[in-house]
Amino acid sequence: KKNPIPKPKWMKLTYPGGSKYTAIKAKLRQLKLHTVCEEAKCPNLGECWSGGETGTATATIMILGDTCTRGCRFCNVKTSRTPPPPDPDEPSNVAEAIASWGLDYVVITSVDRDDLADQGSNHFAETIHKLKALKPDILIEALVPDFRGDSECVGKVAKSGLDVFAHNIETVEELQSVVRDHRANFKQSIEVLKMAKDYAPAGTLTKTSIMLGCGETPDQVLNTMEKVRAAGVDVMTFGQYMRPSKRHMPVSDYITPEAFEKYRSIGMDLLLSFSPFPWACFGVVMVFWRTGLMFVPVVLYSPFFLGAAHGFRYVASGPMVRSSYKAGEFYIKSMIE
Ligand code: SF4
Ligand code: SF4
Repeated sequence: KKNPIPKPKWMKLTYPGGSKYTAIKAKLRQLKLHTVCEEAKCPNLGECWSGGETGTATATIMILGDTCTRGCRFCNVKTSRTPPPPDPDEPSNVAEAIASWGLDYVVITSVDRDDLADQGSNHFAETIHKLKALKPDILIEALVPDFRGDSECVGKVAKSGLDVFAHNIETVEELQSVVRDHRANFKQSIEVLKMAKDYAPAGTLTKTSIMLGCGETPDQVLNTMEKVRAAGVDVMTFGQYMRPSKRHMPVSDYITPEAFEKYRSIGMDLLLSFSPFPWACFGVVMVFWRTGLMFVPVVLYSPFFLGAAHGFRYVASGPMVRSSYKAGEFYIKSMIE
């Protein structure tokens, strides 16, 4: 099916550059590492590898092979029911290569491996464990499959020493079956994110991403954001869906940069905008203020209000944003703020 909508002018590519980018690229040639950034010809490569304002260079590495057992309608990876078995030496080799690379923040991701008894979770946990042992100051984000909702698999990865547990819900709740493989769904993905929060040590962030332009409505986006935040997820990203080829589902619409910015600001301040609770509290305060009993509600109201009024820890939202877009830079900034 032909994509009827022409690409708007804001879907522009930026070109890589900067001294950190050059050093990381030069070093990569000596290592046997394959980055998603290069292989997917990601338009953000220059920004991510240069490290931005905080100098925190980010790159994404794929483990467990290049062949997925699932077939989502937006995704360009190879698929097979029986991909080759994983390389048992991969965790050590990848950990050593990343540790010697000079990267500050690495995203480790994989295809789905429904063919494996542990769905690849041991491979993730081992790679993270080994990498942290070799380079304790590197920040690690694991962007994992849903592991079919298996709590043992989720727990193993969540407790492996990572800094961010990421799992993408990909689209709004209503479009899950249109966009994702039939084995994936919203409820299962939300459960995975909740389990990860419970299992991971305090301070570990959870993260998810959705693509816009798949036919979702703004209300569906807002409802999905609320449900994601209610599951304790700390970080959310929004990017424009781009059709990899004519075999893939068409783009429904190109979301404007202004609309992306609106989702970002709503996400940062989520419950203040949508929950009636803080406003009800505000009303109570005003009543007590007028009656001269101000100190009572101030004491009662502050913790409730502060607790209820926070949105995501950070939100990245824009036409060219991908789930790992400048992840290191955003992580550092969110820890400082
Ligand atoms: Fe692509 Fe992930 Fe879907 Fe596999 S499960 S087809 S890698 S999006
Ligand atoms: Fe690499 Fe992700 Fe950045 Fe693209 S957005 S350059 S894949 S880290």
